[in-house]
Amino acid sequence: MNENQKIPGEKIAQIEEYLPGENTFEDDDSIRATTIGEIKLDSSERLASLNSKTQITVPKVGDIIIGVVEANLPSMIAIMIKYVNGKKVVADLECICVTRHIRKKNIALAKDVVKVEIISHINGTIHATIDSQELGVLFTKCRKCFGTVAKMRDAVKCKDCGWIDDRKLSLDFGKSEFLIQN
Ligand SMILES: [Zn+2]
Repeated sequence: MNENQKIPGEKIAQIEEYLPGENTFEDDDSIRATTIGEIKLDSSERLASLNSKTQITVPKVGDIIIGVVEANLPSMIAIMIKYVNGKKVVADLECICVTRHIRKKNIALAKDVVKVEIISHINGTIHATIDSQELGVLFTKCRKCFGTVAKMRDAVKCKDCGWIDDRKLSLDFGKSEFLIQN
């Protein structure tokens, strides 16, 4: 690991030597990092700062998310965000999607890959919708045997054991080959 790489809270300089710059804070006689980044010491300005590479971007309303279902609850699903508008995200961010109005037994199962759209931020929680046609499950497996499934009207059928199950499928179901690598 690069020794210039600092993590939040880590000491990057002494206050008598430097002034706190970007992405830092003053703590007694120390300057500490507020984010993950590379230390930058400017001796002419006497400024200690941090170049942050991993900017945590919170998705905006209208952004299209591709994520993995973390939890499948009776009235909602929780999704770990993997892509925002096609761009991979590094930070662990979750959104929730209310599904109680959708007349399906299984909207999506845990570990399914889904496409949703951000609709709001309420009290720090990111809310998404899965309702429209292009939104929904992109990749799923058989609930019984974890076999590969194929689309059958608005349901999926297992190629191995023949089990038929419902899902809220996206129009793009089965098209996203890159997702299978995960
Ligand atoms: Zn099966």
